[in-house]
Amino acid sequence: MRVAVFNTKAYDRLYLGAGQEHELCFIEAHLNAQTAPLAAGHDAVCCFVNDTLDEPVLSQLAECGITLIAMRCAGFNNVDLLAAKRLGLSVCRVPEYSPYSVAEHAVALILDLNRHIHRAFNRVREQDYSLDGLLGFDLHGKTVGVVGSGKIGRGFARIMNGFGCRVIVSDPVVNDEMAAMATYVSAERLWAESDIISLHCPLLPATRHLINAATIAQMKPGVMLINTSRGALIDTLDVIGGLKSGQIGYLGLDVYEEEGDLFFDNLSGTIIQDDVFARLTTFPNVLVTGHQAFFTHEALAEIARVTGENLNAFARGERSGPSFVV
Ligand code: NAD
Repeated sequence: MRVAVFNTKAYDRLYLGAGQEHELCFIEAHLNAQTAPLAAGHDAVCCFVNDTLDEPVLSQLAECGITLIAMRCAGFNNVDLLAAKRLGLSVCRVPEYSPYSVAEHAVALILDLNRHIHRAFNRVREQDYSLDGLLGFDLHGKTVGVVGSGKIGRGFARIMNGFGCRVIVSDPVVNDEMAAMATYVSAERLWAESDIISLHCPLLPATRHLINAATIAQMKPGVMLINTSRGALIDTLDVIGGLKSGQIGYLGLDVYEEEGDLFFDNLSGTIIQDDVFARLTTFPNVLVTGHQAFFTHEALAEIARVTGENLNAFARGERSGPSFVV
């Protein structure tokens, strides 16, 4: 198959390109209404979380002769699945690659925020060895609330158990492995009892702005909030309000509601137009990373392997299975 790989970075070429049976054409541009014609002459497109796959783009792809949308990520909330189905396009993804990568990044945010590692790093480079402002707390004995007991939530809970934390979890679906290491509680109890809250549930209509002024008000004053899941789980303006009042003591984000126009590209020479994001980056107790939680060697190798398997399966005529969403 001929595959147009949109939104290509150097690491995509390195991992996706290795040992692939198909003809991959690497295109740097994001997929959107302007760039969709570049797919002409290919059988499939390979896309990422920040490509646009709405109805107008999917229609253009179908007209170009594309039959498969191969997402090289787990999430597919940027794909209009109904339109894809109507247009006869198949959609596959990588349902699981490395839950450890994201779980471990959530822990990295906690450790850095708590012990102010990023501030200490800068101080030491300036020969400033003072400790004022670097005071942390023991994780041992603290209550950690995990929202979502899926693959990543469970990996995260395992690590926090190792620190000697009390782990509580909210999820409408109880998982036996999680139940063995954590206590399932209602969302209300989780907000009220947690010293640290980490979000590991998907973005759904029901979870959009799960963290808002009303839920923030139920949390412990000074709570640490971590989001490595999807930006829109959080109402960013309400969280800024919580940071300004001190109700939120620490915020660690790997995802942001409007990250599509920001993350994955070097914007150091441009003026950031998003004032809400710009405000977030001014708080000393906020740490933002640009959707890098998945970014480990193991995860990229697995994404490339499963994407190759998905392309092979489609070429053999398979149209269903764990990777196919349409
Ligand atoms: P998963 O499907 O294994 O688990 C999700 C869990 O969330 C399920 O147990 C589900 O029942 C639960 N859930 C659904 N609605 C809920 C609610 N209202 N409250 C509490 N729990 C709820 O998914 P996963 O592999 O663990 O991934 C979790 C999320 O991590 C993904 O949805 C994705 O958004 C995000 N993610 C981020 C990155 C990154 O690089 N930052 C990478 C991969 C995945």
